[in-house]
Amino acid sequence: MAKRDGTLAKNEKYQFQKLKMCKNCQRYSVLKDPICPVCRKHYKLVHQLVRKSAVKHLFTEAIWVLTGTGMGVIFAPTTQTMYCLAGGTLFYISYIIVTSIFLKGEYHYQLKIRLRKDLRKIQAGIRFDSNLAKEAEREGQLEAAYEKLCEIDDFVYSDEVKIMQLIVLNKLPVRSRVEPELERLIPSSYDKKFVNYALKVLKQNRARFTKRCIAYFSCYRENIMMDFGGDSLISIADTALRMKLYILEFSGFIEEFLEYLPKEHLLRLCSMVEANPNIDWGSLKGNTLRLVERKYSSDSDFHRFFAHLRVIDHA
Ligand SMILES: [Zn+2]
Repeated sequence: MAKRDGTLAKNEKYQFQKLKMCKNCQRYSVLKDPICPVCRKHYKLVHQLVRKSAVKHLFTEAIWVLTGTGMGVIFAPTTQTMYCLAGGTLFYISYIIVTSIFLKGEYHYQLKIRLRKDLRKIQAGIRFDSNLAKEAEREGQLEAAYEKLCEIDDFVYSDEVKIMQLIVLNKLPVRSRVEPELERLIPSSYDKKFVNYALKVLKQNRARFTKRCIAYFSCYRENIMMDFGGDSLISIADTALRMKLYILEFSGFIEEFLEYLPKEHLLRLCSMVEANPNIDWGSLKGNTLRLVERKYSSDSDFHRFFAHLRVIDHA
């Protein structure tokens, strides 16, 4: 299947290793099943078919060269036969060397032609594969459905496949055998199914929330606020406190939810700020310390940070 803009995605060299075709019904597939579900014949790998065809093409040309040489030997005057034979043999050897050098190029050329010619058939094949995944999902075989969708996802880079995966993942328990990288599932625009799944993952394992995941939540915070409420955003801002790099990258986002951060995490933020006096924390530093003074003025855990606040206020 092509991307929405009609181009084939990801690493093409790797992608086409997976593409198979049933020579009987001309159906393409990217699923692992070795047998065509329509006519029960074995699939052939497309890259092997194309390689065979490239070798066959070059071999046919070599036969023509040999035939020409043979004809030359037969019809040449006797004195010139040896020259003709020697010339023909030399040409034949050179031809074999040159063609083996260009075999790879010929393979890629034929692969490109085949994919262009059969693009609609490939798209139809992937649609058929997607329908098999949907059928498995409807029958409650969620892990099998997800596996099929992952195989399609390796070949096709589109939001449509990601959303289909998210539908299945939202039905599976997070601690199932299936634990995909969250980052791989990030769609190109706001999608509730992704947010829902990401929040499920967050409850189980915050470490799986990468910079790109936090950036997604920060970018679509208004939509998320409407659909999932403020608590979900507070938990993401809290997650961003895990690393100094994330705090710097998402300082504005963290500031928005500073007020609602749990005490231990606010303490951690203060310690991070105190331990890195040379870093420019922007307004996050002042706002954090002022909040601490307002909310935790009687809490001895925070007292050591008040000296920093006085320095900021006098600056
Ligand atoms: Zn078939």
